[in-house]
Amino acid sequence: MDKHPIYLDYASTTPLDPRVREVMLAHLGHHGGFANPSATTHAPGRHAASVIETAREHLAALIAADPRELTWTSGATEAINMAVAGAARFYADTGRHIVTTTQEHTATLDVCRALEREGFRVTRVAPDAAGHIQPQDIAAAVADDTVLVSVLHVNNETGVIQDIAGIGAVCREAGVRLHVDAAQSLGKLPLDTGALPVDYVSFSAHKLCGPKGVGALYVRREPRARIRPLMHGGGHERGLRPGTLATHQIAGMGEACRIAAQERDTEQARIAALRDRLWEGLRSCGGVQLNGDTPQRVAGILNVAIDGIAVEALVAGTPELAFSLGSACTSATSEPSHVLRTMGLDDARVRASIRLSPGRFTSEADIEQAVACLRSEIRRLREISPLWPPAGQGDAA
Ligand SMILES: *Cc1c(COP(=O)(O)O)cnc(C)c1O
Repeated sequence: MDKHPIYLDYASTTPLDPRVREVMLAHLGHHGGFANPSATTHAPGRHAASVIETAREHLAALIAADPRELTWTSGATEAINMAVAGAARFYADTGRHIVTTTQEHTATLDVCRALEREGFRVTRVAPDAAGHIQPQDIAAAVADDTVLVSVLHVNNETGVIQDIAGIGAVCREAGVRLHVDAAQSLGKLPLDTGALPVDYVSFSAHKLCGPKGVGALYVRREPRARIRPLMHGGGHERGLRPGTLATHQIAGMGEACRIAAQERDTEQARIAALRDRLWEGLRSCGGVQLNGDTPQRVAGILNVAIDGIAVEALVAGTPELAFSLGSACTSATSEPSHVLRTMGLDDARVRASIRLSPGRFTSEADIEQAVACLRSEIRRLREISPLWPPAGQGDAA
């Protein structure tokens, strides 16, 4: 390919911010933070340890946490496993019931399924048609033996934002701990762990122009939330997550958080304008519907269903663009999106849906070109489609 496609898949992963790359490279040479951060007998080891603590402070500042509440992981998948399985197993003596939702990331869905095989019961609450989980539905699902509720903050396919304050209030009232998967919201929405009634929160760096392979888990100190560790060996990270810390990865995540704290509001406003321009451009084709039709959405995700074409043909016909059908995680199994299905959308609409996700390095020119390209390919595919115009609508669009 002689030209790079326009990248509209930031919800799947993001390119590294060049400022983050600089910070990471500083720890990959003979100087900088290459030493083992546990090797506190010498200056290079102490330097690596201080690099890690500075990164921890950047993440803590972004979410108003105490740095001691943060544990580094290999990503949000590991953090989610640590929180959900770790809390379930720690509190198993007091109950063996977990409440989650039908539209979680596969990490949460799969760890819950594994816990069912260990004898836990799991109740999965469905969202409404706009993709919102209602706090009263969580309240209704909580039982006497519930030990944990686990919900997404922002859905990775639709961008719909959940009412964490409302769900957290229900959990506090019931005396049940709450885990939030914040992989899609870190650095994009305010997330104040000091004010929100959350006990565990999972994060990833690579949705935030940081590196892949690093994330973090927040575990509240006051009132103290506990987990049983998944892995054993070495007592790093207060015994919660052993293994020599990857200084360059962690420093990269820290820098991504520092940048987000400074630039979040202006960046999100800019990306929201790009997303709105995309939506206007597609909507004017006719026969295009917004999935997750609510103002409570994050800026960088637009999920739409396009009538009268096969979206696989749209992907094939627009090689100058990079975007997803449903989510990257579910399309690996080529199943239609569980997230859209659970919102009550019919199979045809789910199969007609695409996700466009602009981000930090998307320009206005990129969006204009993407709109022109999508519109002309939609028009071309509809001209040869037996499904268009829909029956009874004459020559619509
Ligand atoms: C990307 C993502 C994850 C997984 O994060 P990794 O760091 O890739 O393991 C979990 N939850 C949501 C909502 C995500 O978007």
